[in-house]
Amino acid sequence: ATAATANIGVVGLAVMGSNLARNLASREGNTVAVFNRTWSKTETLITEHPEAGFVASEEIDDFVASLQQPRTAIIMVKAGAGTDAVINELADRFEPGDIIVDGGNALFTDTIRREKALRERGLNFVGAGISGGEEGALLGPSIMPGGSAQAWETLGPILKSIAAVAEGEPCVTHIGTDGAGHFVKMIHNGIEYADMQLIAEAYDLIRRGTGKSPAEIAEVFAEWNRGELESYLIEITAEVLRQVDAETGKPLVDVILDQAGAKGTGAWTVKSALDLGIPVSGIAEAVFARSLSSKPAQRAAASDLPGPAEAWTVDDADAFIEDVRKALFASKIVAYSQGFDEIVAGAEEYGWDIHKGEVAKIWRGGCIIRAQFLNRITDAYAADPGLVALLTAPYFRDALTESQEAWRRVVVAAAQAGIPSPAFSSSLAYYDGLRADRLPAALVQGQRDFFGAHTYQRVDKDGIFHTLWSGDR
Ligand code: NAP
Repeated sequence: ATAATANIGVVGLAVMGSNLARNLASREGNTVAVFNRTWSKTETLITEHPEAGFVASEEIDDFVASLQQPRTAIIMVKAGAGTDAVINELADRFEPGDIIVDGGNALFTDTIRREKALRERGLNFVGAGISGGEEGALLGPSIMPGGSAQAWETLGPILKSIAAVAEGEPCVTHIGTDGAGHFVKMIHNGIEYADMQLIAEAYDLIRRGTGKSPAEIAEVFAEWNRGELESYLIEITAEVLRQVDAETGKPLVDVILDQAGAKGTGAWTVKSALDLGIPVSGIAEAVFARSLSSKPAQRAAASDLPGPAEAWTVDDADAFIEDVRKALFASKIVAYSQGFDEIVAGAEEYGWDIHKGEVAKIWRGGCIIRAQFLNRITDAYAADPGLVALLTAPYFRDALTESQEAWRRVVVAAAQAGIPSPAFSSSLAYYDGLRADRLPAALVQGQRDFFGAHTYQRVDKDGIFHTLWSGDR
């Protein structure tokens, strides 16, 4: 019989699982059991990394037997049916009090369903969002675990030991019960979509407005990375723009097909926002921009439609670049504000006690949206836990006040030049919508009452009203 020597196990040894297992093994006191459906992957991992001292099993029964009780196993397999299959195999062999962690990108409603089913069998199920890609998994990701407080007691110290560290603090916190962790990971990814699209729009406007080369624009981003926009995504943007294609000698960005792919977490964020009634327009535009880019037949058919008659030139390149920087920062504030609105709404809908400031904190390291800026979000929620809209907190209010004129100039320039800037312009429209004294929603209510007797409320007295419109039949 296999001796129970491992304090933690990893199931699924593709790139993420292998790296996470190596990360766990590198921490003091851990003995890591590993298992993969296909043995060859396990074999490769243990052969290439003898230093990790993995306890490897070819059969799942041996894997389970190699775990000390309470057993703790982290699953890193393909989201969906694969995850369900592995959960069932473990659940059939685990005993009450054991912990199954799903570290994949599961849809939070699946996590809610799985947690409930396993809880009824006495098992702990923790859906944990893990961000940071391959490198994060190996060197320290940002981890967003849900599940019970009891499971967190056992799991917390292990996750803290492998998480990224930002300003001395591990980038992991217990987000909330059942699906809260995967929900927050989903929002993280949605914000990531918006952030990436905004950066792409900034690049496009600068390139087409000033004629600067990708390498020159890389320097602009490198400079921005020393200011309030400092972030991983701005940093890697400079790297991507600097890259020269070895084959053609051209900037690599000019050789890459301009069709952006997606794995679905951005779309999940938007679908969930639609259900919750939260306008995450920046994230939605980012998801749609990728969809539009990936429609070659439609793009070809529309390519001869007319654009602006006059050619666009920017008189003062430096001033324009500074305007774009401000537009980017303002739009980014909107995207984060919308993302946090969705977190608040999700927490209310699903009964989670989510600490917004803590969420911003654990995103400071390890994950794709890591940025200085997140400290300002933590500060904002610390100063006012009941903040109704992040963009109204003093720091963000000041930043928007400082940026809004430049933001408008950029959106006007983009529209006149015929350069698509869906995320910049929709974020500005959201800002103007939110701050508007009166919205034309009054007219919409009038229309609704006209054709469907949907009624309306009045500004001058309480009650529900319906008008007998002259056209009403
Ligand atoms: P992946 O390509 O998503 O999945 C491959 C792994 O899943 C293999 O170990 C495979 O086993 C296993 N698997 C698939 N179906 C299975 C089934 N029915 N039964 C048992 N095992 C099954 O791997 P990945 O890229 O490493 O990602 C793992 C998870 O992390 C995914 O949920 C992903 O969304 C998430 N994630 C990925 C990233 C990233 O940057 N890649 C970042 C964050 C989160 P075999 O070897 O036997 O085929």
